[in-house]
Amino acid sequence: MILNMLKLPVYLDHNATTPCDPRVVEAMLPFFSLQYGNAASRNHSFGWQAEEAVNQAREQIASLIGAHPKEIIFTSGATESANLALRGAFETYLSKGNHIITTTIEHKSVLDTCRHLETVGGKLTILPVNTKGLVDPDEVEAAITPETILVAIQFANNETGTIQPVKQIGEIAKKHGVLFFSDATQATGKIPVNVISADIDLMSFSAHKIYGPKGSGALYVRRKNPRVKLKAQILGGGHENNLRSGTLNVPGIVGFGTACALAAIEMDIIATTTSCLRDRLENAFIATNHATVNGSRTSRLPHVTNISFTGIEAEALIMGINKNIAVSSGAACTSATIEPSHVLKALGLNDQQAFSSIRFGLGKNTTDEEIDYTIKLVSETVNNLRSIAHSAITA
Ligand code: PMP
Repeated sequence: MILNMLKLPVYLDHNATTPCDPRVVEAMLPFFSLQYGNAASRNHSFGWQAEEAVNQAREQIASLIGAHPKEIIFTSGATESANLALRGAFETYLSKGNHIITTTIEHKSVLDTCRHLETVGGKLTILPVNTKGLVDPDEVEAAITPETILVAIQFANNETGTIQPVKQIGEIAKKHGVLFFSDATQATGKIPVNVISADIDLMSFSAHKIYGPKGSGALYVRRKNPRVKLKAQILGGGHENNLRSGTLNVPGIVGFGTACALAAIEMDIIATTTSCLRDRLENAFIATNHATVNGSRTSRLPHVTNISFTGIEAEALIMGINKNIAVSSGAACTSATIEPSHVLKALGLNDQQAFSSIRFGLGKNTTDEEIDYTIKLVSETVNNLRSIAHSAITA
């Protein structure tokens, strides 16, 4: 029998980022110092090789999401992609209308960009979600006015993993002639994402969430039915069909392409193994630790769970375990203050409940032993914190 040795610390923060797959690194390596050409250099083989590699990656990425390679615009990550989608569409379609519909649980790259557009003449409707973190498609439809140009709703949430009814939302947007932008940074490569079947017009995603490199992302921009136009936000040499100037990050793009190709093959099996481990972890905490799960338990990503430990401060719990386990609190830290997570608050949690929440994000390399260890250490730490709190009250 082969015993897996437990290597500490255990990494359970795969929604923040993932390790680069060794096969991705291997594919990228030649493009640093052997095939280092500029993909825009037309006059020699260095440029042609780089361009060929970029084209192959474009095909791998497009194929994962059901798009045409020409619909992929390379960026530095999903944050930049969201900025290009939202600001670019707003500036293009302002003559048609100025209204954008979004939700309370978007990632800051979407919410803050929408709020910025409000300061430059945009009108914003921020829809609530129910206690499971789901948007009601009927509310999306009811919010559409003749001024609406765009609906911006995420595919899956980064804190809870809740998957939105994107297919229904896409249908509604299409019926009303409104663009549908979806932030699919957490969903792409983890669950099937298809821009055609979900009627998505613009979609942001990123390599580093799917075992690719950091600093490499993409925006899907629909070319047909309808042809989506955007105003470029980064001007210069006219790269990426004039939508995003700047020398292409060839190694990063090659890594992104390889990560997508691997995800296409391995996604289903990884989803099965991570969801089994995730369910085991979650059920152990529910059974013994007065824990509740935040977000939908039916419509969610396979590898994540967000758990509130009643009466426990997540920061104290994390301090007790973070030498050996890397997890993230549901709270978003801004420079000086710690604020309760806007996502958990939107689900109806009060500050105290939000501050007691921890996100466990599993990955394709997470092992049984790591989950056993996590159940044990977290449970012990929770019990210790509870007994300290109890003796403080009774003292
Ligand atoms: N959207 C979501 C849902 C995310 O989880 C993230 C990463 N935390 C982003 C956007 C931003 O992605 P990037 O790091 O590639 O800018």
